[in-house]
Amino acid sequence: MKAMVLRGYDRPLQVEEVDKPTLGPDEVLVKVAYCGICGTDLKILEGKLADIVKLPHIPGHEIAGTIVEIGSKVKDLKVGDLGIVYPYVSCRDCELCRTGQENICFDVKRFGFELKGGFAEYVGVPAYNFCKVEGSMESLKNFAVLTDAAATPYHALKRIARVTLGQKVLIIGAGGLGLHGVQIAKLLGAQVAVVDIREENRSLAKKFGAELVMSSIDGRAKKEILLWTGGKGVDVVLEGVGSPSTFQGALSCLKRGGSLVIMGYDPSTPLSVNGKDMHYNEWKVFGTRLSTKQELLELISLSSQGSLKPVVTMSVAMEEANRGMEILREGNTPGRIVLTAF
Ligand SMILES: [Zn+2]
Ligand SMILES: [Zn+2]
Repeated sequence: MKAMVLRGYDRPLQVEEVDKPTLGPDEVLVKVAYCGICGTDLKILEGKLADIVKLPHIPGHEIAGTIVEIGSKVKDLKVGDLGIVYPYVSCRDCELCRTGQENICFDVKRFGFELKGGFAEYVGVPAYNFCKVEGSMESLKNFAVLTDAAATPYHALKRIARVTLGQKVLIIGAGGLGLHGVQIAKLLGAQVAVVDIREENRSLAKKFGAELVMSSIDGRAKKEILLWTGGKGVDVVLEGVGSPSTFQGALSCLKRGGSLVIMGYDPSTPLSVNGKDMHYNEWKVFGTRLSTKQELLELISLSSQGSLKPVVTMSVAMEEANRGMEILREGNTPGRIVLTAF
């Protein structure tokens, strides 16, 4: 089969002929129809996750497609089923899996990271990871990005920050993840402020219901936030950038007792907190990591009902994955870029 293969860091992916995955008894073979491109794929290509990814590698963790073959023990799925792939393969029997936290399983492996991903013609996945979608082949393009771009902010806002009705949420970075974050925060009944340097992204954030949009998290933005919140600050910040300056800016806008969720990160840049500020304000700073399969199923349902609109703003042919990566790196499209099948 054909795949886009990474043979060296800071080098383009190349089209190669590789072995088709062999199928275990509990697995299904998925013919990839669409695969989203994520900012983390850029980190992988740049070698920033070289401790995890082994070369040669096939990236891609936002996979949608059709089942073309099923393993001997697979029940409830059949050839021809359309669906998306929950990207994390967990052991399902460690303490964390047993307590509903499969996303941080002690032995978790991920498509496009430890495992070969969806920038390929086919991918073999455990039947458990295949989430069926009722819809057309065309609609799969939108569903593909639920697997991470919507799943990550959903888990962060609903489960980690536990956003409730009437709260005020600040989202830093309105790109692939943040624009879904805006919609999810609105669905949870919050009011939303957004910071993004790109005009097009700010206007999309507004379209999805953001009450306040700002271009950077500076002193002026802080004043606007304080005005918006009666001088108290926001209940929740979803930090999607992860630079020291956005992190400090985010903390300065946080209400006493508020929660900040670190969703975006740069592996080479540590973030610091002032212990005294943490003490006096009793701020809660959380990490967040993808979602559970159950949360992904909830997103499929929300999207099928039309309550959540997947933000896919461009598609690029799989063979042109390098061009797609470049467009993402340059920030030249506001939402997700999706690769279309070989
Ligand atoms: Zn991702
Ligand atoms: Zn586990």
